[in-house]
Amino acid sequence: MTRKILIIEDTPTIARVQKHIAMKIGYDADIAGSLAEAKELISKNSYFCAVVDFILPDAPRGEAVPCTIEAEIPTIVMTGSLDSTTRDTVEKYPIIDYITKENKQAYQYLEKQLQRLPRNENVKVLVVDDSAATRRHICSLLSRHKYQILQASDGIEALAMLEKTPDIAVIITDNEMPNMNGDELCGEIRRLYSNDEKAIIGISGSDASHLSTRFLKNGANDYLRKPFNNEEFYCRLSQNVDMLEQIATIRLQANTDFLTKLPNRRYFFEETTKSLKKIEKSSQVSSLAMLDIDHFKSINDTHGHDVGDEVLKGLSICFAKYFEKQLVARLGGEEFAVYFGETSKEEALKRLEGFRHFIELSSSEFSNLKIKFTISIGYVHGPVYQIDELLKQADIKLYEAKESGRNIVIS
Ligand code: GH3
Ligand code: MG
Ligand code: MG
Ligand code: MG
Repeated sequence: MTRKILIIEDTPTIARVQKHIAMKIGYDADIAGSLAEAKELISKNSYFCAVVDFILPDAPRGEAVPCTIEAEIPTIVMTGSLDSTTRDTVEKYPIIDYITKENKQAYQYLEKQLQRLPRNENVKVLVVDDSAATRRHICSLLSRHKYQILQASDGIEALAMLEKTPDIAVIITDNEMPNMNGDELCGEIRRLYSNDEKAIIGISGSDASHLSTRFLKNGANDYLRKPFNNEEFYCRLSQNVDMLEQIATIRLQANTDFLTKLPNRRYFFEETTKSLKKIEKSSQVSSLAMLDIDHFKSINDTHGHDVGDEVLKGLSICFAKYFEKQLVARLGGEEFAVYFGETSKEEALKRLEGFRHFIELSSSEFSNLKIKFTISIGYVHGPVYQIDELLKQADIKLYEAKESGRNIVIS
């Protein structure tokens, strides 16, 4: 879905820069050079957000701001300068942010805010406070920035909610609450979830300065004292969400094979080890296969390494699709693995034979040069709960498959 942004700006060069920024991020943009034009556009379109110039020829005192706010369009205000009258006017309205144009970083900052808004729609924030009025206030700030919001009135309820909704990213918690205090809640959350998974921001009206340290020592990422200023609230929140996002990106990169985008060996070992522990506890049997392209070296030697890469990428896409419910990985080179967990031997072998056959028939689809190839598969099934041992046994079967002429599944 393309999101539409309304740019209200009377200086054409500035409007063009803003439109360029918005389109680079993926927005569709309309430009209004005056308040009258803006009203006309608002009556005909629906906008995801607006960037509003404070001074316009037909709106010299910020009159465009209430216009977008009343139309319920999340609004970012751009001002030439921020004197105290302008600031007071701007702060009167529930806007997303205001940015001074005289600042050199203004457009970089605008870009960041415009990137965050659609991102925030997927970020779940849990607000924990026993005061319904405070919860309402914080929720209204959050919804202005398009976050998904959940609420709890004490620590016990918050923990239950975290269990029920595992993808909550940020917890904003008050300190003084019945049943469980905020700092205790922090400690409990940290016992269950790491800093890379969830950020906690503590809030309290208490003057006690040791409270901020207690929050932080119990694992909170940040602390705000009531009454807080909205801008500070937003800055701390978005910095924490940015941090979680960066960690998630790094983690994804660390777990993904660069060429094929399949899970890599590292991730495969981590995940299968966790799963095998569970299977061992319930005395089930584990099941795994290793796959290897036949005579891959000769594809490289004949057509070049780039064509070899293309074959690996094409095979990986269809490998991941075919074994959607299983964990697959590129172990290295032209070697792949499928982990079936506790699937029955018959079922696993049926799938593997099906895949081998499919590759035999359709391998030429994976490259422009229509290169045909086959795969050999080694499969193991048994009460083995160490991943390296399972791989070793599968590798022996794979070797047998190669010895017996390739393009075959051996179990
Ligand atoms: P076999 O049927 O016995 O498996 O023979 P093979 O040629 O497939 O196996 P071998 O282990 O002799 O050669 C594997 C080749 O895979 C050698 C290596 O250069 C190539 N290879 C490993 N990683 C990559 C890669 O990322 N891209 C490309 N293009 N080739 C790779
Ligand atoms: Mg202007
Ligand atoms: Mg090979
Ligand atoms: Mg090999």
